[in-house]
Amino acid sequence: MATTARAPERIATRTAKARCRDDSVGRATTSRAATVAFNAFMSMSRAAAIVGSDGKLLMQNLMFDELFSNCGLIERIYGNQWQDCQIAIPDGRVFRVEAITMDDGWLVSAFDMTDRLTRARTDNLTKLGNGVMFRERLIELLANPQPAEGSAVLTVDLDRFKAVNDSLGHHIGDALLCLVAKRILSAVGPNDIVARLHGDEFGIIQTATPQPESATTLAARLVDLLGRSYLLDGQLIDVAASVGIALPSASNLDCDQTMKNAGMALHLAKEQGRGSFRFFEPEMDDRLQGRRNLEVDLRRALALREFSLAYQPQFNLKSRAITGFEALLRWNCPSRGTVSPLDYIPLAEETGIIAPIGDWVLRAACREAASWPGQRTVAVNVSAIQFANPGLVLTILSALGESGLDPWRLELEITESVMLDAEGAALGVLQQLRGMGVRVSLDDFGTGYSSLGYLRSFPFDKIKIDQSFVRGMPGDKGSRAIVRAIASLGESLGMATVAEGVETDDQLARIVADGCTDVQGYLISRPIPPEQITEFLAFHDTAALASDRG
Ligand code: C2E
Ligand code: MG
Ligand code: MG
Repeated sequence: MATTARAPERIATRTAKARCRDDSVGRATTSRAATVAFNAFMSMSRAAAIVGSDGKLLMQNLMFDELFSNCGLIERIYGNQWQDCQIAIPDGRVFRVEAITMDDGWLVSAFDMTDRLTRARTDNLTKLGNGVMFRERLIELLANPQPAEGSAVLTVDLDRFKAVNDSLGHHIGDALLCLVAKRILSAVGPNDIVARLHGDEFGIIQTATPQPESATTLAARLVDLLGRSYLLDGQLIDVAASVGIALPSASNLDCDQTMKNAGMALHLAKEQGRGSFRFFEPEMDDRLQGRRNLEVDLRRALALREFSLAYQPQFNLKSRAITGFEALLRWNCPSRGTVSPLDYIPLAEETGIIAPIGDWVLRAACREAASWPGQRTVAVNVSAIQFANPGLVLTILSALGESGLDPWRLELEITESVMLDAEGAALGVLQQLRGMGVRVSLDDFGTGYSSLGYLRSFPFDKIKIDQSFVRGMPGDKGSRAIVRAIASLGESLGMATVAEGVETDDQLARIVADGCTDVQGYLISRPIPPEQITEFLAFHDTAALASDRG
């Protein structure tokens, strides 16, 4: 039996009674210096022990005895060549064990790091576990195939949280996250594990059966619960939640892969629309891989100048003249061929590459338009993401400055999402641009929310009526009524109305009768490369177009 002391204050009286296994140590304790050393050892605030070179315990203080007598610590670390290690004892506490080499053995001490570890695994804001804790628990679960197969991993992400944070401030954002955490806790089962992974993303390990039914029920509940209004600081806040779910299976018991799968499902749930949930399916992996390749190709395209612009003329019905051109992005990719903007603009917006691409488009369009004959306008599509960037105004100023293009010859085409996404900030930017003389038109009108409020909040120069209304026209009374209504609205507000996608003489006759002021579409011309513009204008002068279509 090794020496043990019960409490530091009693150590002095107990010193004499301390029994040692080794006579030499026993003799040493009789010297004053050894007594002091022994007392210090016994009263250490850490659990401590002296172990001989043969791995035998020679002496331990009370704390060491109480903590580690039954857990084979000495055998474990001796077998492990005394490397520093962590050990968990049955009551859940975790100790860091350190060994210092001495003449004929080791001084082993242990430090309780439970609090430190708990803090390192707790999210300070919501007091839920954090990503570190989540991963540890998931690894633990996946180590046991049976319980793992009856469980589900859900990742939850808030839609439009960034907008709340940006517009209402971080203190409201933080308070919102705490309320979300509470609602999640109220929805999960008592054995489920909830953590905030980062930002507005939460993770849940559900340990209920049967699956996938239990996960479906929980995900539907979360979408419903988290999508209800929040009352904070007297304000009602609406956000929605999307959920991605991965089910561990015998063939997938890897923590990283499970998290990645849940993340992929979440990503596609978000893409599907706000407030929805999706289970991971293996095909998603291929799709996302495809998107990653597209992203890499887009970045390369920008660096290698694989983009160009095509210009589609806009024709004014009253003056019967080509008044301007819309710049449309073209990507000639060596491996993919010509790729439609509809196939990569959404991804470019999502990944943020739209910013440098949009920058390039603005500069190229201004530069090319400056060389056109006459004073025709150039219309550039600007996405909502670009509007959220405060540098947009400067980019436009420098594109105009570099090219020498008159500001009124530049027209920005924005969609309603700009007005919606930038939450009021867009209006200020639009007014600034208007102050500079730049024109602004509302693109694809009729396809989004089509709020008439937008038309009142900013004096757009043009409303572009989406081609679906124009081409759906012949037998489609609804579309026709909409075109007529927009044309008359434009007239009352003093805004031009452009019918997009006009392909036939019939369609042209209708939109003329319906009161649109301008037209754009294959009937006038397909988008053409910049080097053909001068020729196009020479051949399609006002009179020619008037007689062709008249
Ligand atoms: P949009 O701004 O509504 O552009 C009109 C689209 O309709 C163009 O397709 C054009 O080629 C097509 N179009 C024009 N007339 C006709 C017609 O008579 N029939 C048919 N079937 N189609 C017609 P494109 O070039 O494929 O562009 C698609 C969309 O991609 C654009 O729609 C715009 O939203 C976006 N886009 C294009 N270039 C850019 C860009 O530089 N930046 C941004 N952010 N978006 C762009
Ligand atoms: Mg457009
Ligand atoms: Mg359009």
